[in-house]
Amino acid sequence: MEVTTKGIALKATDYKENDKLVLLYTLEYGKITVHAKGIRKGNAKLKFAADQFCFGQYELSRIEDRFTLKTCDQLESFYSLREDVTTYYAACTVAECLGNYTEEGQSEPNVFVDALRALSALTDGVEPLLVSLRYILCFLKLQGFELQFDSCVSCEKTPEKRFLDLQRGGIVCDRCRTPDSLTVSARTVAVCKMVQNMPYDKLKNLNFTSEALREALQLCYRYVSHGFSPFKSLGELLRL
Ligand SMILES: [Zn+2]
Repeated sequence: MEVTTKGIALKATDYKENDKLVLLYTLEYGKITVHAKGIRKGNAKLKFAADQFCFGQYELSRIEDRFTLKTCDQLESFYSLREDVTTYYAACTVAECLGNYTEEGQSEPNVFVDALRALSALTDGVEPLLVSLRYILCFLKLQGFELQFDSCVSCEKTPEKRFLDLQRGGIVCDRCRTPDSLTVSARTVAVCKMVQNMPYDKLKNLNFTSEALREALQLCYRYVSHGFSPFKSLGELLRL
């Protein structure tokens, strides 16, 4: 069966002598692996279709859960994301969320659209740490793991001081915290709450210090790495 879908290439790995397996996040099918035959040959016309962050209209042939690349019409290369290291790792946090923390073959149009908006904002030169923070907070919400700052995950009361409890997976109050809970500063709470639901085109009006953004991203790093698997690209972004 022939299928057509909009997709973002997340990563590609070499396969057989001349092929690649491309991990795509698509509008219609969610995350899928696509076999791109002959794409590593010198004269391969579809090389670009496997480039990281390539956004295109992909034509695929599908047999059960196996997809093979037929052709691709590039809609946006997002090539400039690879020209600056901070921008690159911020874009990688988007790719890693889609690649590691979504279910294979499950279409989630909101997740797709939000990822595309994040990559566009990065291309437009919006502060990479800010875009990454906005993206991750929204991604967690769309996946049902929203960081709730207004109520304690344990007693549901409104906390005065907030702590991150990794065991219970969320923000807890002073009374419910354990010795292992991490302090969440008032500044981080304010930054996250402001950024969480803000459209990407409004982000450029915000003026947080790099330190404030890093502190908020550190919170996301601890939360995601503990709840899912180590959030490698965010770790790299925070090390820069
Ligand atoms: Zn509590």
